[in-house]
Amino acid sequence: MKRGTDKFESEVCLRFNAAAAVCVPMARTGLFLVLRESIRPGQKVILSPLTIVDVINAVLFAGGIPVFADIERKSCALDIERVDSLIDDSTGAVLLTHLHGEAAGAHSFRELCQRRGVPLIEDAAQAFGAIECGKRVGTIGDAGVYSFGFYKNLTTWRGGMIVSNNVALIERIRGHLRELSELPRWRLLAQMLSGLTVDLATCPPIFARLTYPLVRQNYAMINGQIDPERSATRLNKIPSSYLFRMRASQAEIGIRGLQRVDQDARCRINHAAIYHQGFEGLDGVITPEPGTDLSNVYTYFPIQVTNRTQLLAHSQRRGRDFAAQHLRNCADLSFFKEFRRDCPNARRVARDLVLLPTYPRYPESEVRKNVEVVREFLTK
Ligand SMILES: *Cc1c(COP(=O)(O)O)cnc(C)c1O
Repeated sequence: MKRGTDKFESEVCLRFNAAAAVCVPMARTGLFLVLRESIRPGQKVILSPLTIVDVINAVLFAGGIPVFADIERKSCALDIERVDSLIDDSTGAVLLTHLHGEAAGAHSFRELCQRRGVPLIEDAAQAFGAIECGKRVGTIGDAGVYSFGFYKNLTTWRGGMIVSNNVALIERIRGHLRELSELPRWRLLAQMLSGLTVDLATCPPIFARLTYPLVRQNYAMINGQIDPERSATRLNKIPSSYLFRMRASQAEIGIRGLQRVDQDARCRINHAAIYHQGFEGLDGVITPEPGTDLSNVYTYFPIQVTNRTQLLAHSQRRGRDFAAQHLRNCADLSFFKEFRRDCPNARRVARDLVLLPTYPRYPESEVRKNVEVVREFLTK
């Protein structure tokens, strides 16, 4: 009988109808490994600038040159016409990010990429389980990468998985991964402790009674502490901490989590429906396109407002744990200046985006309170 990571991989293949899968230390490592197998050094990788800094680093580690394409305001997904206009003879891959749990139109991108002869790689780190036109995101392009990091909708505290219908690709990557050592137990434990601290600090009743009073003097502090991108920067080589194989015990957590993924998604979708209804007809807020199927699993409910700082301050006073979207517009970052490109939509979204919680076990009454707090702010 299969156990641990082998079992986790075959369970995902079975449920998601993928030919092959391999567990990776983190999604960013997985993106690096897939890109390294997919492009030649010096080739361009077209991608959204609204992503974590380490995704750009992964492109660079793989020998690629990041080419930023702007996104659409409402969906925050890559604008396909821009991608089309950027593909040329030196393009090695298109990397499509499914942000906030919303499928980013991978079928249209697959059609484009096939026509232009370029591999399509999906960053499904935030959208594990979402389904687009009958297929799980991540399995539509040439390869897809999931994250099981602490902030993700299925978590093994740390980790990720690559899926593909190209068995040879997965086997080559598996060969490289065999050379890595396993995540040491103490590192996993440290990850769990830091995760639990954040969890406790942002759990609604605790947040309202404890964290908020503690940080009300300086509310920027807590947002800063929970901002995983705070100290992200350009790296010259892949850090050794990104290169530990997932442990069997983590895979077992993942396997248990799999049973709940679709059910959790339905809870999140129900919460999203309350948000959609609550914000209908409200001026000054951009929400995602409403969806009730699994094409959007609403890992978060993203809203865009022009005065984000004030909304966050207001929500803190009301004891709500709204979060600023921590993703930067990587096309504007000084340390990536040679790749700079004017992406006005990504710039706006990076400034305006607020993530409202959709936790599956969050009571509906909390969602309604969140709606009230946003409405109160926008209509006052
Ligand atoms: C979290 C995230 C990643 C990286 O996931 P890790 O497992 O932490 O490496 C990559 N892309 C996006 C869009 C993410 O949100």
